[in-house]
Amino acid sequence: MSMFDLTGRVAVVTGGNGGIGLGMAKGLAAAGASVVVAARNAEKAEAAVAELGGKSVFIALDVADEASCREMIARVAERSGRLDVLVNNAGTSIRKPPQNYTAAEWHAVLETNLTGAFLCSQAAHPIMKGSGGGKMINIGSMFALFGSGYAAPYAASKGALVQLTKSLAVAWAEDNIQVNAVLPGWIDTELTRDARRQVAGLHERVLARTPAGRWGVPEDLAGIAVFLASAASDFITGAAIPVDGGFSAMG
Ligand code: NDP
Repeated sequence: MSMFDLTGRVAVVTGGNGGIGLGMAKGLAAAGASVVVAARNAEKAEAAVAELGGKSVFIALDVADEASCREMIARVAERSGRLDVLVNNAGTSIRKPPQNYTAAEWHAVLETNLTGAFLCSQAAHPIMKGSGGGKMINIGSMFALFGSGYAAPYAASKGALVQLTKSLAVAWAEDNIQVNAVLPGWIDTELTRDARRQVAGLHERVLARTPAGRWGVPEDLAGIAVFLASAASDFITGAAIPVDGGFSAMG
């Protein structure tokens, strides 16, 4: 359907080399976009690019490094002459009780999940504005809504990312840039495989609390990525949309 067509669009997915990022990248590529997979692990990224097919490329990125964020976006602009969609998906967590974090651990999580998204968005803004508009999609979490006893910096970063989403949406509406957040429920990826190893009973608790009765898979995020990247969502901005099998609706 033409409303969802992304032919000719250039989309950057940070952390697009695995998990949710790759799930969304697959949706964007299937809708016709050229996808830039931006992450650190080159081997995983090259495998992702091969899976995504012809029009996708890998550009190295460490979102925790300001210069790397700016350079990645500059390389996309140089290579493609445009940037239509930015998915700020790269993320990480360190799990422990809040009293045990070092300041360095706190900063590491905030820099990756929050500051990196801000810097990539800031670098992308003039390019999108220059071509008449664009779409930014920030990947939040259920922990943007709920607290976590074992992931305080992660929850803080994701809550802040939703507020950043709203602020960018308000500021850049006049540039025809829509900025929205996606709040995934519990999705089976490397990140949550680690969480299930570290947090006793997590797997069963998630199953019991998710009305859909299953963990999500990365491909469950493909549809929302296409929707928020396409003309179908042109009047939606500053929203935070759960994709969670009903997790956040469950009392
Ligand atoms: P993964 O661990 O599979 O993916 C995380 C991705 O982020 C990797 O591709 C990794 O690539 C990239 N990344 C991490 N640090 C950096 C960095 N410094 N610079 C560039 N890229 C980086 O986990 P998920 O797919 O689960 O997570 C993706 C996003 O979804 C995260 O923001 C996460 O918080 C969020 N999320 C996940 C949920 C889930 O249930 N799985 C639920 C809610 C939100 P590389 O190491 O190569 O750099």
